[in-house]
Amino acid sequence: MSKNWRPATQLVHGGTTRSQHGETSEAIFLTQGFVYETSEAAEARFKGETEGFIYARYGSPTNDMFEKRMCMLEGAEDARATASGMAAVSAAILCQLKAGDHIVAARALFGSCRWVVETLAPKYGIECTLVDGRDLANWEKAIQKNTKVFFLESPTNPTLEVIDIAGVAKLANQIGAKVVVDNVFATPLFQKPLELGAHIVVYSATKHIDGQGRCLGGVVLADKEWINENLHDYFRHTGPAMSPFNAWTLLKGIETLPLRVRQQTETARRVADFLAEQPQVAKVIYPGRKDHPQADIIAKQMTGGSTLVAFELKGGKDAAFALQNALEIVRISNNLGDSKSLITHPATTTHKNLTDEAREELGISAGTVRFSAGIEDSEDVVEDFARALEAVKA
Ligand SMILES: *Cc1c(COP(=O)(O)O)cnc(C)c1O
Repeated sequence: MSKNWRPATQLVHGGTTRSQHGETSEAIFLTQGFVYETSEAAEARFKGETEGFIYARYGSPTNDMFEKRMCMLEGAEDARATASGMAAVSAAILCQLKAGDHIVAARALFGSCRWVVETLAPKYGIECTLVDGRDLANWEKAIQKNTKVFFLESPTNPTLEVIDIAGVAKLANQIGAKVVVDNVFATPLFQKPLELGAHIVVYSATKHIDGQGRCLGGVVLADKEWINENLHDYFRHTGPAMSPFNAWTLLKGIETLPLRVRQQTETARRVADFLAEQPQVAKVIYPGRKDHPQADIIAKQMTGGSTLVAFELKGGKDAAFALQNALEIVRISNNLGDSKSLITHPATTTHKNLTDEAREELGISAGTVRFSAGIEDSEDVVEDFARALEAVKA
């Protein structure tokens, strides 16, 4: 397997192992366990003297192919596939911390990620400080003697704020802390956190990696040493393993990731440019546009725009609801990265549990809408918006 393959090639061939039948498409190994030819062989496997699988909670052939393919794409040494994105996030954070440790996290996080650091971790004596991650000075100010982990998402959900990953990594390295990046919104194609200095990358594979709305999944990627010392035992004994069936679905999903993300990005860019010209729209936030507030950091750390667009309607909630209800191709759903174009109103769905104050801090207003571009013809999607906006008074 060549490390020099470009992503589109890695995603079709990377990590593939074939059974004695020489099947073209990757096989699904739906098995819980494995048999050994002899007692001695079992003993050797358990001692780690021979290679091979032991039990599907620890690892299994289809999952192994998915993990290897993700490693190639990410440029990571090792990975663990998990049952969901949240299993990946919680494992990546909790496996390396103990009571008395401290996390600094960007406050703009996917709702469940924020719950893990803000509500769950403190129950076990792990304190957390949430900061406005856009300004590096805030990260530095929040550092304590016991700070062990920095956690961030970039671009953020739903307002597509960007955090300077290399800057945060530099601060972390000064104090020996680890940087965990949730790279879902950027996709593994447009941003490489490990190259920027982050130590651990996590994905919800449920999003662009499946990309066709079928199954949940997640993955944690890092160097071998960190995985061996932190995640290995945690993963084996707490059991967040991915189903081999889902690993197979995701393996087939990532074959087409570059094709889908290219089309989604094209549509997102066209929708962003279209919306920016409309009288009903107060503001468009799109990482691929020059008017993004952090266009300089985007130029430094991302190689593509985004498949998502955030925008604000002047008419608040009524306008947002009217637009969503009038769309025909673009469906109302809180999911993202799907081959179907989706739209959501964060204030009443994904971010409804935050206080009004917390929402305001994150720039989520009653008129904020998040659009996730699908793989339909871009022209049809722009036309859908143009028609639906007629239902919204300027
Ligand atoms: C969806 C998502 C998650 C959680 O993933 P699940 O697969 O739903 O558990 C975590 N982080 C981000 C940024 C997400 O978009």
